[in-house]
Amino acid sequence: MKSIVIHAARDLRIEDREPGEPGPGEVAIAVKRGGICGSDLHYYLHGGFGVVRLKEPMILGHEVAGEVVGLGVGVAGLAVGDLVAVNPSRPCGQCSYCQQGLQNQCAEMRFYGSAMRVPHIQGAFSERLIASAAQCFKLAPGIPAELGAFAEPFAVTLHAVHRGGSLLGRRVLVTGCGPIGALAIIAARSHGAREIVATDVTEFTLELARRIGADRAVNVATDAAAMEGYKANKGAFDVMIEASGNERAVRLGLDVLKPRGVLVQLGLGGEISLPQNQVVAKEIEIRGSFRFHEEFGLAVDLINRRRVDLAPLLSGTVPLAQAEAGFKLASDRSKAMKVQIAF
Ligand code: ZN
Repeated sequence: MKSIVIHAARDLRIEDREPGEPGPGEVAIAVKRGGICGSDLHYYLHGGFGVVRLKEPMILGHEVAGEVVGLGVGVAGLAVGDLVAVNPSRPCGQCSYCQQGLQNQCAEMRFYGSAMRVPHIQGAFSERLIASAAQCFKLAPGIPAELGAFAEPFAVTLHAVHRGGSLLGRRVLVTGCGPIGALAIIAARSHGAREIVATDVTEFTLELARRIGADRAVNVATDAAAMEGYKANKGAFDVMIEASGNERAVRLGLDVLKPRGVLVQLGLGGEISLPQNQVVAKEIEIRGSFRFHEEFGLAVDLINRRRVDLAPLLSGTVPLAQAEAGFKLASDRSKAMKVQIAF
């Protein structure tokens, strides 16, 4: 089988790997679609992010959907021919965090396509994948693999919405309208947000943000003044979902969040400085949001019931042989939102 393997920054290769056979409780999956994520791009462009660095070749990818083509012994509820979204999160189930229901904080997490551990955890950008049946969530009839491959990034944003608390009747600011910010708009809308304002610095993403449900989308590079009105009376937003990782976005949020507002930090950046006095005086709560757990099933369910329309976020699909072109396209936020690879 062919796999997409990252060796170092800008060194992406398509290599032959052994597919293996499904063991007890496992299934073999013919991967159909794989979405390129920001973290895949970090490995491709920079060889990692923060202290996480590639130390050996690693198969990329964790946003995949495909067809069940083989069943190990003891698998119930799945059949050959089923289309499934594959949950890339594999918590151990045994550690103290898993035992508390905080599986996304698992101390022994084996998340697909991650260089956080050595040896690295291999990813899912392969023609064949062996996965535990418990990772496989069936797609409803008529739901194509390209929508199923959105379950993972959508789950990330549903987790962020959970971290923000009830959005019913709330005013929400989403900063950064890449795929995660855009999905956060859809997640917030489906959870009762009263008004959603989105910011970014490229017109392409802002236009899409309006199309998928933002009440207002502001280009803070060319029209920063548009945000001034939200600073009146100590701020206008109850919750902010920060999906850019940019210091200026965080500072803007502190200006426009109401007292006791909640800032959900989803974007990964690096080290930034914050006006401490503003956090104190407005009693702002800053909450991180990392991956997901039960939200993966919720994401698949909302997609299966067509309660959300994620199709507008797919800007391009490239065949496996042209994977690197797909990575380059996905890196260009002026013309691409989510890019998928067809296996
Ligand atoms: Zn664990």
